[in-house]
Amino acid sequence: MNPSRRKLLKWLSALTLTSTLPSRSLFAATAPQVVIIGGGVGGATAAKYLKLFDPHIKVTLIEKNAQYLRPYGSSEVVTGHIQMSDLVVTYDTLRSKYGVNIIIDEVIGFDAAKRQVQLKQGSKVAYDRLIVSPGIELLYDKIEGYSYEIAEHEIPSGWIPGAQTELLAQQLKAMPQGGTFLMVAPPSPYRCPPGPYERPALIAEWCQRHNPTAKVIIVDPKDEFVTDQTMMLGWNRRYGFNMPKKFTATLPKTVEVLQHQGEGILSWIPAAEGGTPLKLDATKKVLTTAGGEIKADVINIVPPMRAGQLAAKMGLTDEKGWCPNQRKTFESTLHPYVHVIGDACSADAMPKSGFSANTQAKSVARAVLELLAGREAPVPYWENTCYALAASDYGLYVADVFELNEPENKIQRVGKASRYLRLEATPEEIRLGAVYQQAWLQAFTEDCFG
Ligand SMILES: Cc1cc2nc3c(=O)[nH]c(=O)nc-3n(C[C@H](O)[C@H](O)[C@H](O)COP(=O)(O)OP(=O)(O)OC[C@H]3O[C@@H](n4cnc5c(N)ncnc54)[C@H](O)[C@@H]3O)c2cc1C
Repeated sequence: MNPSRRKLLKWLSALTLTSTLPSRSLFAATAPQVVIIGGGVGGATAAKYLKLFDPHIKVTLIEKNAQYLRPYGSSEVVTGHIQMSDLVVTYDTLRSKYGVNIIIDEVIGFDAAKRQVQLKQGSKVAYDRLIVSPGIELLYDKIEGYSYEIAEHEIPSGWIPGAQTELLAQQLKAMPQGGTFLMVAPPSPYRCPPGPYERPALIAEWCQRHNPTAKVIIVDPKDEFVTDQTMMLGWNRRYGFNMPKKFTATLPKTVEVLQHQGEGILSWIPAAEGGTPLKLDATKKVLTTAGGEIKADVINIVPPMRAGQLAAKMGLTDEKGWCPNQRKTFESTLHPYVHVIGDACSADAMPKSGFSANTQAKSVARAVLELLAGREAPVPYWENTCYALAASDYGLYVADVFELNEPENKIQRVGKASRYLRLEATPEEIRLGAVYQQAWLQAFTEDCFG
């Protein structure tokens, strides 16, 4: 076992030990009230683990939708591997098994001095500590000619799952034979680093079966992305993608890269080759990039993003649109007693992923209990694994453990061990990667909501 995993396991076992001793509540007399806003990955995990660590504590989770649509795995709806209904997660178990008080309502503001949250339907909820996990806001208007209305009816994004995801699935099915599917990747930082490359890969696989003369083009305002080498090897093997020299130069000699004649189904235009999106003509379905115009039959745009709207409304964001915090506890540097986790927060080397939101939620649940008891929060470790598919049977991943650099208030990766699927991975390891991805989806949802 490498040292980083060992450190992490030590930290996790400390968490587990305290969580199995409910009679040791720190708050026997007057249990404090922790309020959580946002019942997505971060919020649900925080609610569950607060109750696991100390069942005596009062935990209220406020979520605007009665059911959660999980974003992770939602690209598989686009290609018809699963249905929208497969994304639905309920709050039943958090309520019945863990005793979390669930309020379905929208938070529209808060009073930091009185430590109260204001709900749309009129009531106010008081807290001793507040955890906020509002996810992201998609900045459609940052691409000239694009807007929320256009995304809802013509050129979907679907990066927050919902009606746009279904619209995209319908458009893919209706794409003419030999048509062009255009994927617009976002600038960093963004939700789910391998996601804008996994989705077009799954679409290319779908096209091989249903629309074999179609083209899938990815335009990108970046020149690299996390998992790029391993993802591109998958594209090379499955979709006739010729890997740029930059990515083959560092491959071990034993790794075979196929040389394809002409263009395959899938191509990628990075920033250096004019991939940066500039302007959309939604009526003509033409995207102008730094390199010229591209006409497509179906366009899927992942626009730039920032912390979910509520974060700005609560005064929790900085000039870049994300939520600054004390990394050890994720307590906001702008409002005391408020902790921001998940995609909305600034977390340095940690990616904006469900896995990150989940591991942050656990460390913050622990920290909040300690702080409420007037004790020092422990120094946490965090982890992340992002699985991604280059095809439904071609899995890859990036896996990391993170530690706190306390003097610099920064989260950094532990060690330099390889983070990716081995470049020399055998076909069996690659197939297993896809099996692990599916198993992770189940186990992860259970860990957050079940
Ligand atoms: C296509 C795709 C694939 C992905 N795949 C992976 C993957 O394989 N692995 C991985 O780890 N991650 C993956 N992710 C990323 C992952 O889904 C997110 O990182 C994760 O959901 C972030 O959790 P969160 O709690 O920050 O936000 P969310 O899960 O978005 O939760 C935010 C919640 O807050 C609620 N909310 C917002 N404002 C209010 C308000 N004012 N009042 C009440 N409630 C409010 C929202 O309704 C929502 O339920 C993927 C994402 C996408 C789009």
